[in-house]
Amino acid sequence: MPLGYNFMGISFDEAKYFPDVRQKFLEEIDFEKYKPFIKDVIYFEGKVGEKIMETVPDSCVDWLPNTASTIRVSGYAFRTCSLDEFYNILIPHEGFHAWQNYFEYAEPVGKEDFVNFPNGQYVNFHEKEIKQELVAHQNQINHFTFEKCSRSFQKNVYSWLRFYEELFGKFYE
Ligand SMILES: [Zn+2]
Repeated sequence: MPLGYNFMGISFDEAKYFPDVRQKFLEEIDFEKYKPFIKDVIYFEGKVGEKIMETVPDSCVDWLPNTASTIRVSGYAFRTCSLDEFYNILIPHEGFHAWQNYFEYAEPVGKEDFVNFPNGQYVNFHEKEIKQELVAHQNQINHFTFEKCSRSFQKNVYSWLRFYEELFGKFYE
């Protein structure tokens, strides 16, 4: 039995300090109303520059809607987030992406352009992805966990929201 494991379930603190229980911790999470749209939640160690969490639709190959997604959660998220911050990204952002993927996912359509991201990435982005990110950030702010997150975390979410709002504006100039 790995350290930090108990039969009453694994706490976030245990998962933070004992990487070998993180997968089990993720499997015990209640994804609220997003549960039907999530197939798996997978832990990965993660490297610098990788996303801290991401949601991948099963239909990546043929771009079909109505398929559940897999959420991937990196070790970086456990190391750097408080409990509320962790849930604020995982449920109303990534869980919401799973919901979006289920109802809206199709081959990215609409205008596309290369975009300079605040974190230094330069990627090809579609109108549809911008809309989805915009709404996911708003949904994060509206979730009850948001007000319990640190000021720096909240500021960061708001700055990403503003970034997507501006980008959305540019696409419609
Ligand atoms: Zn997102």
